[in-house]
Amino acid sequence: MKEHIAGKTVSEWQEAHPLLTDIMDTSEVYWQNPAYQPKSKEQPITQAELDEAAALFLRFLPFLKKTFPEADLAEEGIVSPLKKIPNMKAELEASFPQTIKGDLWLKCDHDLPVAGSIKARGGFYEILHYAETMAIDHGLLSRSDDYSKLDDVQYRSFFADYSIAVGSTGNLGLSIGIISAKIGFQVTVHMSQDAKKWKKDLLRSYGVTVIEHPADFSVAVKRGREMCLQDQRCYFVDDEDSKNLFLGYTVAAKEVKQQLEAAGVAVNEAHPLIVYLPCGVGGGPGGVAYGLKQIYGEAVHCIFAEPTHAPSMLLGLMTGLHDKVAVQDFGIDNITEADGLAVGRPSGYVAPIIDKLIAGIYTVEDRELYKLLYQLHRSERLFLEPSALAGMYGPARWSETIGKTLDIDSDNATHLVWSTGGSLVPKHDRETMLSKGKEAVR
Ligand SMILES: *Cc1c(COP(=O)(O)O)cnc(C)c1O
Repeated sequence: MKEHIAGKTVSEWQEAHPLLTDIMDTSEVYWQNPAYQPKSKEQPITQAELDEAAALFLRFLPFLKKTFPEADLAEEGIVSPLKKIPNMKAELEASFPQTIKGDLWLKCDHDLPVAGSIKARGGFYEILHYAETMAIDHGLLSRSDDYSKLDDVQYRSFFADYSIAVGSTGNLGLSIGIISAKIGFQVTVHMSQDAKKWKKDLLRSYGVTVIEHPADFSVAVKRGREMCLQDQRCYFVDDEDSKNLFLGYTVAAKEVKQQLEAAGVAVNEAHPLIVYLPCGVGGGPGGVAYGLKQIYGEAVHCIFAEPTHAPSMLLGLMTGLHDKVAVQDFGIDNITEADGLAVGRPSGYVAPIIDKLIAGIYTVEDRELYKLLYQLHRSERLFLEPSALAGMYGPARWSETIGKTLDIDSDNATHLVWSTGGSLVPKHDRETMLSKGKEAVR
């Protein structure tokens, strides 16, 4: 623990924020964001930029279809299903005895093609954007071309002169590594100690260089950044500070709107949409939340979920220090089974964009994630990785915490849990996780 954090002692911080004591004890908490402005119209990112992000994915669709034939991409491209999960709702109602009013839906980003996690949005976007910019700048491509030609040998040898590097706890590395290798870039992924072995193995099978760091996420990012900076032809994907990653995630909001409309689900002030998003550095949940706010305004309320041992965005927003504070400064260890969320410091790009935009953040114990993992599998036959269950804990504790503090009529609310990863987890690892969950449920 640090003696002083931004010039104040820990007890001064505790006095200013009474919830901090529980957070430091790694107890579960719900923090209602005092700066929340449901109606805020601040627009650090313009509608034109959001539209352009969606358009870029569409330009690349012919390339993606050609290079990932096994993914059998839909006409809409890299999209995921939206599913109603009534059996899971019944599970939650029975095990946390309470009634959840309104329907429970799951946005299945664990099922996103190719990368199997929400990182298929941000990670793919950033690399495709970079590849497009490079090819256009070198007079090799124009936006009206059929991008499937990027798979030709002339383009691949052009891209092979450049390299990409990224630091990751696992899933970002997977998505950046896979898409960069397909484009033809040389790519190095710097993995933190939390990264699972199968993720490293899978990357190596795509020809990606994997460097393992016996340290946490921030250190892996720092080392990766340093190594990349020494090479003029290296482009570093900086998960702690990236607008392009963020833009890639925002595109999900339009997709949800179309899916809810198609399902006949109304979203307006009388029928609020409550969205629960697992948060690591904040890019994924932040981008989705930003996109949803632009569409639904005050009819949508976004809640972030973090592990009790890695409440990085919570500390960043509560103290107002954003990326100038890490969980370790307050003596919290950043050790969690939720590897996608094992992040000690929030993104400095994202924190100021979302600090008035999200309704609150809750923390959840690893043990609960395993329980939910087992319960979702038992009730809906869906498998998610532990990080991806963090959002499921929100509806479970709705009446106790979130519902109590949000001033809305929740009778007609729709609950949307964002599932962020899991479809690539190998069978053996799944079984280990499921039996851990089964134990915890007892
Ligand atoms: C990366 C990730 C998140 C969180 O995204 P951030 O951009 O780090 O906030 C959540 N769940 C899973 C499975 C992830 O891989």
